[in-house]
Amino acid sequence: MTIAEIIVDVPTMQTNLPYSYVVPKELETKIQPGMRVVVPFGKGNRKVEGFVVKVDHDTEKAATATTQLKSLTSLMDLHPVVNTELLKLSQWLAETTYSFRISCLLTMLPNVMKAKYQTLVVPVAPVTDPWLLDHFPHQDAIPLDQDHFSNQELARLTELRKQGQVQIQYQVHNQAKPKTELAVLNQIQDFERCRESIRKNATGQLALLNQLERHPKTPLQQRTLVKQTGISPAVIKNFENRGWITKTTVEKYRNPEQHPIARDQPKRLTTDQQHAVSTINAAVTDQQPTTFLLEGVTGSGKTEVYLQTIQRALDQDEQALMLVPEIALTPQMVTRVKRRFGDQVAILHSGLSNGEKYDEWRRINEGTAQVVVGARSAIFAPLQNLGLIILDEEHDPSYKQSDNPRYHTRDIALWRAQYHHCPVILGSATPSLESRARAEKDVYHLLRLPERINGQQLPEIQVVDMTNALERTGDLFSNELLQALQATIDRHEQAVLLLNRRGFSSFMLCRDCGYVLKCPHCDISLTMHLDSHTMKCHYCGYETAIPTECPHCHGHHIRYFGTGTEKATQQLQQLLPQTRILRMDVDTTRKKGAHRRILQQFGAHQADILLGTQMIAKGLDFPDVTLVGVLNADTGLELPDFRASERTFDLLTQVAGRAGRAEKAGQVIIQTFNPEHYAIQLAQRQDYEAFFHREMQLRHLAGYSPYFYTVLVTVSALKEKEAAAEAGRVSSLLHDNVAQTTEILGPTPRPIARIKNRYYYQIIVKYKHDRQLPAALNRIQAISQKEVRKGFRIAIDVEPQSFM
Ligand code: ADP
Ligand code: ZN
Repeated sequence: MTIAEIIVDVPTMQTNLPYSYVVPKELETKIQPGMRVVVPFGKGNRKVEGFVVKVDHDTEKAATATTQLKSLTSLMDLHPVVNTELLKLSQWLAETTYSFRISCLLTMLPNVMKAKYQTLVVPVAPVTDPWLLDHFPHQDAIPLDQDHFSNQELARLTELRKQGQVQIQYQVHNQAKPKTELAVLNQIQDFERCRESIRKNATGQLALLNQLERHPKTPLQQRTLVKQTGISPAVIKNFENRGWITKTTVEKYRNPEQHPIARDQPKRLTTDQQHAVSTINAAVTDQQPTTFLLEGVTGSGKTEVYLQTIQRALDQDEQALMLVPEIALTPQMVTRVKRRFGDQVAILHSGLSNGEKYDEWRRINEGTAQVVVGARSAIFAPLQNLGLIILDEEHDPSYKQSDNPRYHTRDIALWRAQYHHCPVILGSATPSLESRARAEKDVYHLLRLPERINGQQLPEIQVVDMTNALERTGDLFSNELLQALQATIDRHEQAVLLLNRRGFSSFMLCRDCGYVLKCPHCDISLTMHLDSHTMKCHYCGYETAIPTECPHCHGHHIRYFGTGTEKATQQLQQLLPQTRILRMDVDTTRKKGAHRRILQQFGAHQADILLGTQMIAKGLDFPDVTLVGVLNADTGLELPDFRASERTFDLLTQVAGRAGRAEKAGQVIIQTFNPEHYAIQLAQRQDYEAFFHREMQLRHLAGYSPYFYTVLVTVSALKEKEAAAEAGRVSSLLHDNVAQTTEILGPTPRPIARIKNRYYYQIIVKYKHDRQLPAALNRIQAISQKEVRKGFRIAIDVEPQSFM
């Protein structure tokens, strides 16, 4: 008898371990770990999806015990969708992030496989196998399920898939239908007889008939047919009425990057680049799982180091995985990788549709793609033979997933590197304190690129004190910045301006009664957006009309405060009327492709100034940008987070790095209300090392990462009192069960105490060594599930990256 161990799609503590099911005889030789199956579950034997994690053949001994076991119902896949490595990784992930194994498995797969879907099987033309002809008379896709195939037939299909005679398609019902095209399928047996019944001058009908005769068994795309002379939709309709064709659809392969890209050659490396490349390549060749921290100033050519080390992995017939923060934001990077490696590159990022993601994922799973570039979740790309993993901008907070499983991409990278015996490159101009501290202790191998390419100087940075009102024009622009902008434009060069705040004004205040318009669901003021003529909540998306009078006292003295990108663009346009300004923020890049379009326009000099939120700070490499301005360096400093200084330093350094990257020297102007702040002063000097040492001292004094580990436990409920009480219970459970040396802070209300009508309380656990803590957190995880029924939500976040 064959028994399969299965993780079922029921995320609870009891079902966090595999369940045993008997495998029906006819599937015994077909079933493999990593396939999805349908199993009966619970008292009512409802059908749920599950993942096979283990298969035990010939378990005679257990036969008696297994008489109680249920049989699994059917296979959902004809080949594994989760490989051995990723199965193992899912277990580790579940343990270290305190999440359910099923959530981890689902996180690894493209969305299309999580959503409500149907698995279809289609024969591959030309079909010769009699069994196939018999079962697929119209060669349509047929749902791969029990209603359509018996287990014997499923077994047969598994064979046919191996031989390439059938293919699997996943059809998603709700969100992402595979991209399909209308097509027609021939039904004619006797072409001569049909031809005789057509008038000789009916050229369109004859043309269509010829096409059908030439491809009697393949669906023909209607759109392609109509492009041919004479074949009009009426002709097609006519054929359909005569029963000569049937209408069908064909799935279109989606290729997200359709722009032809010219290939380039490896560059001649500088001495520092050469040193980095040869050190890393040695590890690639020796299959050493070394972690390299590549600390290179902006414009030092880190990307070239990535490309040439990827090349080494490919030369060894290995594959490479390169992560970039929210890649939709850096089309330039994608182009650079594609230019070097062409069609071997697969791209995975949030800008793709579910269908496109699924197509790219399939190219990876089938071994067609050798280089994968992607954002966070691409770390799970099913590459079988990894030779190198790269995390560009390794300090970026978007590498941490904020929902279950709350993993950090870096940790997954290190785990996979151990598994594959391959090195990891963590690259950044401003490494996270955690990584830089590990390099200090030789846990990571530090490689530095202290200079820009071509010996270009880092740009000169000037700090402008905005508390000195005389310096200002309007509320946003200093005279220095305006003059510099004018000079840049006069030289026909370009400028980038950063303002890390969306919208027009960030809040509305009534001068008569002091009322501030807030979101009815969140503890946050509403932002005015002129584009959409609404007041918006940036947390829950709530929108309402812009009030003409105070909703509270009906007074008419409404004032708007806090400037966002929308207003800044408007003001600047008034100050510099001849200037062409492009705005880039969440609101102007919502449409697919908008991001790329804006950057292309800017790159093609169709604008003088690019003004945007932090999405302009990263990765942009435009040779004519010689001026960078930061309109308000203080937005991030005010946040109640121990990483506020680090984030500000990173952002300023990154954005400053956009200036003067080619031959022309760059200039940076930072406007701030905190000119004395060390993060701003050290960013002005572009001295990462000094910042690192200074910040480490402060972290040491305050007892924060990387000196201490932290776990954040958040409790929420619809009533504030209940959230507080539950947080109190969780906190005392922790107190009673953790090591003496462990500190427990809170519970306290979260900085934004209410979001989407839920009240949040948080508890911060700080520790150095605590063997008891995992057990305590496991208990909380177990409790959390019961408490959900009472309306509570409890989240465990190991090494949180945000406290908001
Ligand atoms: P970083 O990622 O460190 O900010 P980039 O990789 O973007 O730096 O490199 C900055 C610029 O220098 C790019 O335009 C890149 O093409 C160019 N570059 C990199 N390495 C070399 C080299 N060895 N020779 C010439 N140009 C180079
Ligand atoms: Zn809201």
